[in-house]
Amino acid sequence: MSAQPIQEILSQLQRVKKIAPDKWTALCPAHDDRRPSLSIREADDGKILLHCWAGCGAADIVNALGLTLADLFPRTNRYNVGEARSVHRVWAHREALQGIAHEAIIVRLFIARLVGCAPLDHDDLVRLALADERIGEALRVAEEGR
Ligand SMILES: [Zn+2]
Repeated sequence: MSAQPIQEILSQLQRVKKIAPDKWTALCPAHDDRRPSLSIREADDGKILLHCWAGCGAADIVNALGLTLADLFPRTNRYNVGEARSVHRVWAHREALQGIAHEAIIVRLFIARLVGCAPLDHDDLVRLALADERIGEALRVAEEGR
């Protein structure tokens, strides 16, 4: 593959049409496409962004072309594939922690009310149950990202 993956990708697609300097449409190779539903965009760093309006995943699309997701990155930036994944993981962790921190504030507010002998009403209990649910969800996200 050349240093510019966009040329390689476009040469393998059918009914390619340029709609902007860095944007094309083509028939999606991953499903039985009759009107071009694949959008192709070349990012500033040479990375190729694929989007099928019928819902095919980028991995399905490159597989149908006999390529891999790594082929969507310029050869000089191949390490970015792994890098992008680890950055995503760090963010998922951070968001999970922020979510827990936020829910902890809610719980603390309710506890302060109870300590001040102000009873919780039905809405409060619903909100507490939601806090419990969100903390559990955040923990699952953090667990998966490990
Ligand atoms: Zn498709």
